[in-house]
Amino acid sequence: MADQFVLAALFGSLIALASFLARFLTLRGSLTTLVLAVVIYGVGGWQWTIPILTFFLLSSLLSKLGRSRKARFELMFEKTGARDAGQVMANGGIAGFIAALSFFFPEYEFYPYYLGALAAVTADTWGTEIGVLAGGGTTSVVTLKPVPPGTSGGISNEGVLAGGAGALVIALSGYYWFGDVRTAFSVVVAGMVASLVDSFLGATLQAQYRCSVCGSLTERMMHCDRQADREKGFRWINNDLVNWFCALTGALVVWGMT
Ligand SMILES: [Zn+2]
Repeated sequence: MADQFVLAALFGSLIALASFLARFLTLRGSLTTLVLAVVIYGVGGWQWTIPILTFFLLSSLLSKLGRSRKARFELMFEKTGARDAGQVMANGGIAGFIAALSFFFPEYEFYPYYLGALAAVTADTWGTEIGVLAGGGTTSVVTLKPVPPGTSGGISNEGVLAGGAGALVIALSGYYWFGDVRTAFSVVVAGMVASLVDSFLGATLQAQYRCSVCGSLTERMMHCDRQADREKGFRWINNDLVNWFCALTGALVVWGMT
């Protein structure tokens, strides 16, 4: 077991360093990833590492793709570019917690819930990244009225399909170890439901600001170098908290379905 954690530290350092150099992560984001990697690889070996690595690599590459096409949305989203520690915990914190639970309670099978949490953040990331790139008609998940692409709570057919594809990839990445279609199905459903919950919370409870200079609605507190005015949502509910809740929802949906 100790050997496994030494391997985990070596492997985690490699991933953290490569991600920092590739500008997938900020320095603090890399250090947080190292801690998560030690927990997850140390507890679960490749069985638990491959799905989160799948999420991490594919989502990071997706964020890098078409950056210029997405440039016009950059000021709309709260955070863009290299992921920081808050984002790493928002996306991987629940997964790390479930891995720790399985270490302390080995008599229970936590693996499907773990995959549910990862399917959720993958569906959310793919839905947003591909949805914005595809540029199809976007509808508010709350009012069901058309909204500009990139708006918090906006969903498109392309985005929902991409989210489902992301959740399926996560289910497949662990299929060798759980090996039944029913569980795979629940993981995919969990990803899609959780990403819709994420959109809903993004449009309702998450803080949104109105720029006093250019007038656009944004997740950022600062816009056009000025403090933007809060228009709706709670100040303390930011994108990271919503993503964290998305991951939790994914785990709970699998738990409810299996
Ligand atoms: Zn502005």
